[in-house]
Amino acid sequence: PSGLESDAAVQQTSDDAAVSRESAARLGYIADPFIKHFIKHPQRRAPLINRGTYCRFHGIQRVLREFVAAALQPRVQCVVLGAGLDTSFFLLSPNLRYFEVDFADITAKKAQMVWRKGALRERLPEDTRVVGAELHSETYNLIAGDLREFPSVMARLQERGFDCEAPTLFVSECVLVYLDPVCSDAILDWITTNVPRAGVVTYEQIRPDDRFGQMMIGNLRARGLELRGLLAYPTLESTKNRFLTRGWRVARAVDLAEYHDHCVDKRELDRLAALELLDEWEEFRLLAQHYAFTFAYTADSLPFSSIHFP
Ligand code: SAM
Repeated sequence: PSGLESDAAVQQTSDDAAVSRESAARLGYIADPFIKHFIKHPQRRAPLINRGTYCRFHGIQRVLREFVAAALQPRVQCVVLGAGLDTSFFLLSPNLRYFEVDFADITAKKAQMVWRKGALRERLPEDTRVVGAELHSETYNLIAGDLREFPSVMARLQERGFDCEAPTLFVSECVLVYLDPVCSDAILDWITTNVPRAGVVTYEQIRPDDRFGQMMIGNLRARGLELRGLLAYPTLESTKNRFLTRGWRVARAVDLAEYHDHCVDKRELDRLAALELLDEWEEFRLLAQHYAFTFAYTADSLPFSSIHFP
């Protein structure tokens, strides 16, 4: 596909992620009363997908919540890269500067949806305004930009109050892996160079080489999507080293199968088992081994050092 076609295919993935999230929310896997407002055509996902969505949500929300809780000073900030229709801002109502970035087509759509739905609009700071494809306020900003031009994206954030000196958590769920690794490495390097106290949590595909990995890549390719990042960072080890060799002090990586087995409470797993029968355990394991979280930070100090992850 041409550049523009593949950009359109990547943008489409924000709807897929939201549909999966809505399915998991409606069935009681996750507590997200906001995601339904972003979905026109709800779908019920298969039990193994719902369980995967549960783990994904659990991991990212855990880092976000612990960051917000440890962030006692008001100057800390959070940046969600490729935010799509992510609802974390509405769930957390964080008392900090919060930025979301995505292509203008996506932010324009999200801004309109948020503005029109009372349940979402009432969660916005009082001073929020719609400005073109964006939402602006003192604390929450939804910004249009192309992550492949990261310095100009960050210049826009700085106009909206982003402070390089403040401790900052960057969140990236299924975003960096779609970029050429030269671009995603440039993003990480911009952060280490410019933000002395930074943390990042990612959730992305891994292990392209085995049969399941090849199938996953084939399915995405059929939709015009390429997991470019997997060429350079195919394994847990290479993902972790990616950070450690680029000046990040701490980096941890865990795949979703391990996260499911060791990081989710037994009581929670019992609760999930009662929601829906999952009998495709082998398929779930395979799927879950092909997704991973990484959590890394540059400064071994609060609020990052107090976050327990994985
Ligand atoms: N993070 C959201 C979530 O988990 O629900 C959305 C994930 S979706 C799989 C990937 C998102 O990354 C899409 O919204 C897409 O538009 C965005 N994205 C991909 N490449 C981008 C780029 N170069 N610039 C800005 N956004 C990008």
